[in-house]
Amino acid sequence: MVTTPVVVIHVGDSRNKGRVDESNGQAPLILGLSRGSFSVSEAEEKKESSFSFALGNLKKRKEIHMRTIQACQITEAVKNLCVEANRELPPDLERLVREQVGQETAETAGAVLCDLCRNLDAARDMKIPICQDTGMAVVFAEVGQEVYIEGNFEEAVNLGVSRGYVEGLLRCSVVSDPLRRVNSGDNTPAVLHTRLVPGDKISLIVAPKGFGSENMSSIRMLTPAATEEDLIAYAVDTVRTAGGNPCPPVVLGVGIGGDFELCAYLAKKALCRSVLVRHPDPFYARLEEKMLEAVNRTGVGPQGFGGDTTALAVNIETFATHIAGLPVAINVGCHVTRHKRTII
Ligand code: SF4
Repeated sequence: MVTTPVVVIHVGDSRNKGRVDESNGQAPLILGLSRGSFSVSEAEEKKESSFSFALGNLKKRKEIHMRTIQACQITEAVKNLCVEANRELPPDLERLVREQVGQETAETAGAVLCDLCRNLDAARDMKIPICQDTGMAVVFAEVGQEVYIEGNFEEAVNLGVSRGYVEGLLRCSVVSDPLRRVNSGDNTPAVLHTRLVPGDKISLIVAPKGFGSENMSSIRMLTPAATEEDLIAYAVDTVRTAGGNPCPPVVLGVGIGGDFELCAYLAKKALCRSVLVRHPDPFYARLEEKMLEAVNRTGVGPQGFGGDTTALAVNIETFATHIAGLPVAINVGCHVTRHKRTII
């Protein structure tokens, strides 16, 4: 049987060689080449099926709209989010802080809450950060599967953080190495959490996290025998131990379930939910309310001066977990629990 070298065309992704289609702003379809030796009839067959496979994919790719987003669009969005998140509280959180002024029964606590409101007004009027600790930039990105990013995504996010903090005159609080502790000079790198989601958009949340409150956060690997009361006691213990350090009134992000690292992620993500929106599951919505009431009974009060308003909200996020465990993390947010979202 005669054998002959053939070239087979196959469809690949942008890591393959031989870029052939960059039209219409769509993601390039890449054709790669591979060599081999086949009998003539095998080669013909293989060629034919490879061509029809390639053509089929070409057709499919033309039907799927891939939206191109430039890296510089991501950088600009992150830059603006860093600045805006540091100057203005989410409206729902600001509303809660202002409402508490009229609710406080302790005189000093009421006066402290008034000062916090005046501080919010001053930051808005003077276009300056609400707090001197402008935080480490935590970025939650949800990237649509139908998005093609022209450029390096992580570099784009970090460049946005750098420009936001340097040009926005925000304090740079990040050290490049945890033990040698030299300031990176532009608040990078960001803590970046990226998820792939359906769609052709990118959602970006920047949550600058101050460490007065971050340092008061904790994680416990409870046993499956832990009760609702045990979880409430854990929240109360965390807040009592923290005292005035996290600049109360606080917002508690509580992650329940998953594994060691996922419950900490959930706790941080919970801080990005509106403080006016309760968990969609009534069971956890009730637990949020019970935790809030219990924490407010500690009497820690605004800035630790005592009073009724120790916490403004408790937001719980949950995930499935292992039969043998119950991981719970509490991420403490201060009264300046900042986060700002945009969609590209
Ligand atoms: S805990 Fe919050 S309010 Fe207090 S210094 Fe840090 S960022 Fe500012």
